[in-house]
Amino acid sequence: MDRIVRWIDGKDELRASLVEAGNLEKFLRELHEIPPQEEQSFFQTVLGTLLFAQDLKTHQTLSLQVEHAGRAWHCDATLEGMTRAMTTGSKWLEPGFRISVRRLGQKGLIYQSVVESKENSVLLALREYLEVSEQSPAHLSCYIDSSTLRAEAFLLRGFPDTPVETLSKALVATDALDPSTPIRELLTAANPGRWDILNETTVEHHCPCTRLRAMASLATLGAAELEEAAAKDGELEVICDFCRTRYVYNASELLNIAQLLNTETPE
Ligand SMILES: [Zn+2]
Repeated sequence: MDRIVRWIDGKDELRASLVEAGNLEKFLRELHEIPPQEEQSFFQTVLGTLLFAQDLKTHQTLSLQVEHAGRAWHCDATLEGMTRAMTTGSKWLEPGFRISVRRLGQKGLIYQSVVESKENSVLLALREYLEVSEQSPAHLSCYIDSSTLRAEAFLLRGFPDTPVETLSKALVATDALDPSTPIRELLTAANPGRWDILNETTVEHHCPCTRLRAMASLATLGAAELEEAAAKDGELEVICDFCRTRYVYNASELLNIAQLLNTETPE
């Protein structure tokens, strides 16, 4: 089962999160036909989003996009472990990575930040993002091996009042370990004392798209184009970029939308 587990150490000085999402990795890789050379970047983006979403409040969504060399990997995740992802082209062609993070609440955008990184992997760029945005060092490691269905990421941080020596000792110890190291050994390296589980969340693929919402993207085509499509092809389809669901609209539906657009914007 894919899940996120959060721990806190016995002295309340260190906190850790582990996401295990081997099944999700396989599902998304097949859904989006991710080429082997993009697998690490794509899924480092997904695992990073799931970990960062652990700082959200209920009913918020974290939207994280990484751009690199004309490609963009995008993931949405909630505190409750609901997630969806997509890959697309990007016009951003500078060297390195650009990371855009948006936090969305029920009433819209709450927070947005963009960090550019000259690092050479999504993982390292995400670490840099954390340092810049949180002003506090962290350990972030990632292990993805699609042949064994293993996809994990581990985040270790302190709290605002954690002694600097305690945190840096824990980070040096975990940074020194191989990313495939089992979680118990990672935690023990950070602090040999007690660790308590705070909570455990199931990770699930979820896309909130609907036939009605997909219709809104048709409206952006404009009334004239919709009328033309209705006359020529008799139908139009919209495919969701995230879950690949195909929504088909017949001629009378297209004409209905065109009519609505015509009444909304009288000339
Ligand atoms: Zn969808």
